[in-house]
Amino acid sequence: MSREQLAVERARRAFCTGRSKPLENRIRQLNNLRRFLVERQAEIAEASKKDLNRSEVGIQLFETLGLESEIQLVIRKLKQWAAPRPVEKNLLTLSDTLYIQPEPLGVVLVIGAWNYPWAVTMFPLIGAIAAGNAAVVKPSEVCVHTAKVMEELLPVYLDKELYPVVTGGVTETQELLRQRFDHIVYTGNSMVGRIVMEAAAKHLTPVTLELGGKSPCYIDKHCDIPVACRRVTWGKYTNCGQTCIAPDYVLCEPSIQERVIEEMKKCIQEFYTDDPKSFPDYGRIINERHFKRVLAMTEDSAVAVGGDSDQTDCYIAPTILRDVKADSKVMQEEIFGPLLPIVPVNGLGEAISFINQREKPLVIYVFSTDDKLIKRVIEETSSGAVLANDCLVHYSVSSLPFGGVGNSGMGCYHGKFSFDQLSHLRSCMVKPLKNEGLNNMRYPPHTLKKLGW
Ligand code: NAD
Repeated sequence: MSREQLAVERARRAFCTGRSKPLENRIRQLNNLRRFLVERQAEIAEASKKDLNRSEVGIQLFETLGLESEIQLVIRKLKQWAAPRPVEKNLLTLSDTLYIQPEPLGVVLVIGAWNYPWAVTMFPLIGAIAAGNAAVVKPSEVCVHTAKVMEELLPVYLDKELYPVVTGGVTETQELLRQRFDHIVYTGNSMVGRIVMEAAAKHLTPVTLELGGKSPCYIDKHCDIPVACRRVTWGKYTNCGQTCIAPDYVLCEPSIQERVIEEMKKCIQEFYTDDPKSFPDYGRIINERHFKRVLAMTEDSAVAVGGDSDQTDCYIAPTILRDVKADSKVMQEEIFGPLLPIVPVNGLGEAISFINQREKPLVIYVFSTDDKLIKRVIEETSSGAVLANDCLVHYSVSSLPFGGVGNSGMGCYHGKFSFDQLSHLRSCMVKPLKNEGLNNMRYPPHTLKKLGW
């Protein structure tokens, strides 16, 4: 029996003992997970530094603090979420008891990506524990050190049979995918998303796919351009552009293009100095393969800002591309790197059709002081989310579902949405055995007399 098979079998056996279900046990495990995040901050930070060149403040800001507050929220609300949910009755069901009872699904598989390795594995794990499931966690092999910390230290805090960590690469993930699960949460690129869904179909296992894509950003000429540019610059170059919800490209009217470039250039200097390469808060492309992929995208576009790179260090400067055409290389796939193409369009109508001619993105960003314009973007486009006048921050709002639509994914999570996604919402109807007379009509023979005609 393979290591992967063994972990899944053990998790299944542990789930069948029933110990993941009592609310006190779920809360105890969640508290232990919180303790892990606090007590092992140093190990987490060291691994993130080695894997992603991320600073200690960066890892707290973008990953662990959000996880801690998610755990607090879940602990506070769990009793309410797990309780029976009464539903509306009609004349025929007046004397019945009708409710929805969330129940655990069983064993959940969580497959994580490398770019925010803690957030993309621990948010689903929190949801799985809260909903009373067992969960097998498979961190990305790209973050070797982080995966090692998860594998070695999580079992010290959590029930290791119910919530095992399985490390490894494609072979191990594929071996896991051959096993039977009750739900799979996958975060990563759309190509592997298809592999995951195909494997899940063999067992009729439902999936949540958290994918990526090109998230557009429309900057209206009627807005505070310096503030808009500051927020977009932050959203784009955080983690060196390797953020699933990074604004991928900017759409704006030609009349404001130069102003946008100038303002963003100022922000790049302010955030990362004139020499981002030696500035500690500016990241690196994760590996050489991605470095070459991202750099090749600049070939047929005009560089307005940045453009320098160093392969030995996987460094690409914060770069802005001007007058980018729809058929240029950088517009063909998700960039996932520090390039910001500006595509000039003649007004909102053209921007909306540009967006609608492409795959549905994970987010659409719009910057404007005109509420009607923002409403029009919401009404006339489709995407996982819309964020007006800021970047990235909707991710941390646990009362909003986080997820994609179409090519950017399916299903959603965060807060109560994770709980519901990883529960079966079971219909419960309890009828009294009395009042049998009322049922006469439904039993054969179906005569007109019974209907009183
Ligand atoms: P990755 O290379 O770490 O892969 C993700 C997981 O898939 C890993 O655990 C890996 O083992 C597994 N995997 C890779 N190839 C496989 C194969 N052939 N068969 C089975 N499993 C395989 O991460 P990535 O895909 O490079 O991640 C970047 C992508 O993820 C981007 O598109 C980004 O937009 C997206 N992303 C989305 C979200 C979100 O919440 N929607 C968050 C982060 C990243």
